[in-house]
Amino acid sequence: MDCLFCSIVKGEIPAAKVFENETVLAFLDVNPLTKGHALVVPKRHFENIFDIEKEVLGHVASAAKELSQNMKRGLGATAVNLVNASGPDAEQSVFHFHLHVIPRYEHDDLHLNDWWQGKVRKAAPEELSETAQRLQKL
Ligand SMILES: [Zn+2]
Repeated sequence: MDCLFCSIVKGEIPAAKVFENETVLAFLDVNPLTKGHALVVPKRHFENIFDIEKEVLGHVASAAKELSQNMKRGLGATAVNLVNASGPDAEQSVFHFHLHVIPRYEHDDLHLNDWWQGKVRKAAPEELSETAQRLQKL
């Protein structure tokens, strides 16, 4: 199987590692949005949120927390965004689960609002309760 992140985990492709334990590896994104932008990946291959084991996901989340704290201490980040894309319609590009940990800085000129606030709309209460029921019934 030809997987970029599996190759990084195996050490076949070099990466700037920032965190590692038995289950998880984190390394710097080669196309960073901000200084320190990192990816946390499970060492075992999972495609995305739909097939990753809950326990492994827990390890990924713990690593993201530790990394976030290190970004504050080591890089002077004042905030952080966590982003995951799962599935082609979410614009997932590498099909090995990865959680982006994007350190944020005052005046870093990155505006999540461009992506988010520009597209949101007001939902009617009936629509919200109908949608919530659909998710709860499963
Ligand atoms: Zn992989």
